[in-house]
Amino acid sequence: MYLIGLTGGIASGKSTVAKRLASWGAVGIDADQLAREVVEPGTPGLAAIAAEFGDTILLADGTLNRPALGAIIFSDASRRERLNAITHPAVRRLTRDRVAAASAVDPHAIVVYDVPLLAEAIAGGLVTFDLIVVVHADAVTRIKRMVDLRGLTREEAAHRISAQASDADRLALADVVIDNNGTVEATLAQVDALWTRVRADEARTVAESDGTRTP
Ligand code: ATP
Repeated sequence: MYLIGLTGGIASGKSTVAKRLASWGAVGIDADQLAREVVEPGTPGLAAIAAEFGDTILLADGTLNRPALGAIIFSDASRRERLNAITHPAVRRLTRDRVAAASAVDPHAIVVYDVPLLAEAIAGGLVTFDLIVVVHADAVTRIKRMVDLRGLTREEAAHRISAQASDADRLALADVVIDNNGTVEATLAQVDALWTRVRADEARTVAESDGTRTP
């Protein structure tokens, strides 16, 4: 199994890259999706959150009232930590389960873990990545895409960018940078070259562990 950590700032193009890799056969795991799954109705995660923060954070249909929870933790770091202490271990467990499941189905699977908070995932000893890929687009470009394609105001878009880790911090982690400032086609060409490289890397790893050698 070969595990790629895929990250990038908001609206940098992570999903665009992940989708292309999936079209070539990569198994995609989306950290944001897992974070939603661990607080679905009926999960121990949601029960623990209700016990900690009270039933006011539940909607009538039993789902999480995100704005209500957000209002509680927004200005209170210690309550935010209590929430993270519930959700982060659950996401870590689910991530490990999904990676193990992909490997059980295909021991040569190439798995792409799309994780906006990659630095935290690494610090938490979540999983060991074979390759870290950072998708990069300048703040100006990302703001324009959020305004044009997602209907945000310039201020909202800029605020979301400034709430995240800096580009420099992210780029410092990268083995490979995909430049997504240009056209989608230019980006997909970089992704296709990455796929070729990853396939070769994976095959080399297998050959080495078999004791055989590629020429
Ligand atoms: P988020 O951080 O919100 O999950 P993301 O990093 O996954 O976003 P995408 O959803 O791939 O980013 O891209 C953000 C938006 O910009 C999407 O609407 C996408 O279609 C568009 N987009 C991505 N790349 C390009 C490009 N090179 N040119 C024009 N639009 C693009």
